[in-house]
Amino acid sequence: MFISELTRRDMLKTLGFGVGAAALGIGSAEDVARADFVRKEDKTTGQLLDGSQATPCKQLADGSIVRPAANVPKISETDVLVVGGGPAGCCAAIAAARLGVKTTLVERYGHFGGLATGGLVVHILGHWISENGKKIQATQGIGEEMMKRLEGLPNGIVNREFGKNPTLDAEVYKYLLVEMITEANIEVFLHSWASDAIIADAPDPKTGAPVVRGAVLQTKLGPQAIIAKQVVDTTGDGDVFVPAGAAHTQRAYEIGLPYRIGNLDRVNPPKDAKRPRYLGDVTPVAGVKWVNMAGPSLDGVDVKTLSKLELQHRKQIWKQVQEVRNTPGYENVYLMETAPQIGVRITRVIEGDATLTLAEAKAGKKYDDCVGIGGAWHGDHIGWQIPYRSMTPKNVENIITAGRSISAEPLMSDSVRVIPNCWVSGQAAGVAAALAAKSNVLARNVSIPDVQKALLEQKAYLG
Ligand SMILES: Cc1cc2nc3c(=O)[nH]c(=O)nc-3n(C[C@H](O)[C@H](O)[C@H](O)COP(=O)(O)OP(=O)(O)OC[C@H]3O[C@@H](n4cnc5c(N)ncnc54)[C@H](O)[C@@H]3O)c2cc1C
Repeated sequence: MFISELTRRDMLKTLGFGVGAAALGIGSAEDVARADFVRKEDKTTGQLLDGSQATPCKQLADGSIVRPAANVPKISETDVLVVGGGPAGCCAAIAAARLGVKTTLVERYGHFGGLATGGLVVHILGHWISENGKKIQATQGIGEEMMKRLEGLPNGIVNREFGKNPTLDAEVYKYLLVEMITEANIEVFLHSWASDAIIADAPDPKTGAPVVRGAVLQTKLGPQAIIAKQVVDTTGDGDVFVPAGAAHTQRAYEIGLPYRIGNLDRVNPPKDAKRPRYLGDVTPVAGVKWVNMAGPSLDGVDVKTLSKLELQHRKQIWKQVQEVRNTPGYENVYLMETAPQIGVRITRVIEGDATLTLAEAKAGKKYDDCVGIGGAWHGDHIGWQIPYRSMTPKNVENIITAGRSISAEPLMSDSVRVIPNCWVSGQAAGVAAALAAKSNVLARNVSIPDVQKALLEQKAYLG
């Protein structure tokens, strides 16, 4: 029986309730959640209604395809809307919610963590910096809290010792993020792909710039709208700030596909045998390693390119693993898992009110609006300040970005994008958005001293 054919009675039976279900406790939190699944029903027949709001596009006589204008149903209204639940977005949402504003987090997949989970990018680089000849950990606040909590979970993280680069487990991190997001009481929409920005009818009277008021999500029920006082775009690809009209540059960068191999604890190479290539790096699980991949520098938002690369990378991975297995002593090694999400490193980057450059970062440039300290994953590990103005696009109001799409020249984006730096900028974006929503000002005009104070209260490190 298809679910749409189930009556409410059948549904209750299917869920394990008898005829006297109400008497057996319908009304508890869990049951209310269950009742949610059956609420769109025809009152007379008891059948589920499809509820789809999608309107078909039309092909015109000249062959062009148009989308007719249609009302978009509103599914939520919130103070801070964070779009994209990767490392930056999760930190942004948690930071905002902890300041007591209504926070909504939207994610296109069914889990949080972005590339750090779905992309199997599990190696935490760049959170150590040299300061006055001393090595210190620049990533504090929610990022450090996450690493600490991963330590408390079985197989959560390895190499947490001072000065080392830890590696986390993608599944444990997915679980931890669910824990932290539910603890913070964040409204969540998964399986929802943001495809458009909502702009206020009138531009800001002072700047004349468009004012972002929310986002439209593509869902199985068609487009749905969320209205927000402040929007944080942490999709990594600017899927909200681009349609909002934000100035940005689009880049081609390496696109790879990491994977994990298993049974490394069952290898038995002959003495003096050559070690095979592609053995990867340590993970928190014994006998399991993760293998990173650089890949070609191409356009990471073009589906034709991504489709080609998926096919190409899967063939390459298969070959690499067979090469390992064909090495005497390594016959038991097997391909456990390829990343479900292709590894796109950099695509669209905003043109912000300030732009980070490698030369200035190395020279230790100071900013009045510093909201975090980033680290480099290679070279001399110099810490650099993240100015709030690198997270606000210069020509659009009420949208902040964080993570890999903040304003930076190409060489600098390579440091901006590592996971700890995304945690740091994410937390800063969440705090700024929450305070802007609370004080009813444009994101650009939020009080920087208040943002810095709130970040310090949330244990962030500002240098
Ligand atoms: C192959 C590879 C290897 C790397 N190696 C390392 C490494 O060793 N160490 C390190 O620290 N960093 C590494 N990085 C960089 C790091 O993984 C990313 O830069 C970092 O995860 C970016 O975080 P983010 O939150 O900005 O974006 P992402 O991690 O990309 O998260 C974006 C989130 O938004 C969601 N999303 C996207 N579009 C939409 C939409 N339209 N609607 C709703 N949701 C959407 C995504 O599903 C995702 O959850 C690597 C990256 C790659 C690709």
